[in-house]
Amino acid sequence: PSLAAEQARRKVEKTVRELWFFLSSQLSKIGNQAAVPHVKLEKLKTDLEGYRRTIHDDLEKLRSVDDADEWRERKSEELGNLVQRRFEYIQNPSDCSSAKKIVCNLHKGCGFGCQLHHVTYCLITAYALKRTLILESKGWRYAPKGWETVFEPLSRTCTERGTTLKTFWGSAHRDIEKHQVIEMPIVDSLHPRPEFMPLAVPQDLGAQLEIFHGDPSVWWIGQVVRYLMRLRPEIEQDVQDAGKKMGFRNVIVGIHIRRTDKINLEAAFHSLEEYMTHVEDFYNQMERKKPGITRRVYLASDDSSVLEEAKMKYENYVFISDNSISRSAGLNTRYSDGSLRGVIIDIHYLSRCDFLVCTFSSQVCRVAYELMQTLHGDASGRFHSLDDIFYYGGQNGHNLHVLEAHPGSSSGLIQIKPGDSVGIAGNHWDGFSKGTNHRTGMSGLFPSYKAEDTVVKVSMPTYPEVPL
Ligand code: GDP
Repeated sequence: PSLAAEQARRKVEKTVRELWFFLSSQLSKIGNQAAVPHVKLEKLKTDLEGYRRTIHDDLEKLRSVDDADEWRERKSEELGNLVQRRFEYIQNPSDCSSAKKIVCNLHKGCGFGCQLHHVTYCLITAYALKRTLILESKGWRYAPKGWETVFEPLSRTCTERGTTLKTFWGSAHRDIEKHQVIEMPIVDSLHPRPEFMPLAVPQDLGAQLEIFHGDPSVWWIGQVVRYLMRLRPEIEQDVQDAGKKMGFRNVIVGIHIRRTDKINLEAAFHSLEEYMTHVEDFYNQMERKKPGITRRVYLASDDSSVLEEAKMKYENYVFISDNSISRSAGLNTRYSDGSLRGVIIDIHYLSRCDFLVCTFSSQVCRVAYELMQTLHGDASGRFHSLDDIFYYGGQNGHNLHVLEAHPGSSSGLIQIKPGDSVGIAGNHWDGFSKGTNHRTGMSGLFPSYKAEDTVVKVSMPTYPEVPL
């Protein structure tokens, strides 16, 4: 398929998705008005649902026609393996003492997903500057003996920063080539901000990526996370064993319910029912092709009470979860902290689900979604987030390109015109998104289907040394 054909197809998918968000939201608003007979409204909903299910299946056929699914898978694998070889190349210089380096440490005071994303930005920087990333991880809160006790070392030949005087990013960026060792801050204090930060993708990959993938930036971040999260063989075995014990198998929907310390500080509370609506929706669609399919759900949460609630409330579902295992097995001695084992297992299996329902405000789910991209041709549509759209913490501005005009209004809509660039803050999943029109400076809502994502392609080294 050509770029134009794929873009046109994805545009229809997006418009249909947004139409459904819009209709659902409008219908439930009307339903709240006592004047409309309930029965009539339910009938209308059922009828519309019929159209929607058929359009969904039609679009899926269109997506897979002429073996296009296999083609996407092949492209993703080929390009992904190339990126992995490039990481191998920068991470294994023949002479470590003279190699140009980026130094990062794991002392960022936050959870595993957040720390992993910190290292992700460091490896992207190393790639963009063609340097070796040295990760200093002794005393890491999740594994005090270091990153390498759980994951493959980032390098086989070069893991020390050496004795050369380091320079901090801020002062080094002007004549960067002069400095052998550059230490990076946490992304929050990164200044100046390089243009290669997400959501940018390497220019030489971008043209191919935007043909087969619906969200190239997530695919690219996924490849970085894939390199970082290569598990040591004994840990990989442990993860595989855990999956067998749980009975993990596809078809399965993954839900990640992030509660405890996150609620009210960084995210709102969402009931189990809000997640399960989207799971039901997935299986109702699937049921058309596979009648009687087992409704399997992989449930990950930091709130241990939610599994019991789910089993009690949804008897026609099979819930698979790692909670029971970590509790009965107790602390695994290979990790100094049992919580790392739990989150690795949850991220691993969430990424292997067929569809994800979660809150993208959580880095745990975003990591799973990123990794999911490395296992498919184009898995960019395999999620429903109850809150944020996908983002990378510390990303450069995320701008949409406006395709169709829409008038502003006193009820919060901003005026948009074709060609405008709108910085997106979020999708309200009701047909409207929130953003700032860079032309007018106005912030507010606009119909999501009237703007499209743009792929930001930034010139980075093309690694001719690495065979294609
Ligand atoms: P965020 O706070 O959700 O954005 O993600 P972080 O990864 O930065 O911090 C949350 C931490 O809470 C994780 O790293 C885990 O230690 C723990 N956690 C959150 N959700 C889960 C889950 O579903 N399973 C497990 N095992 N741990 C979780």
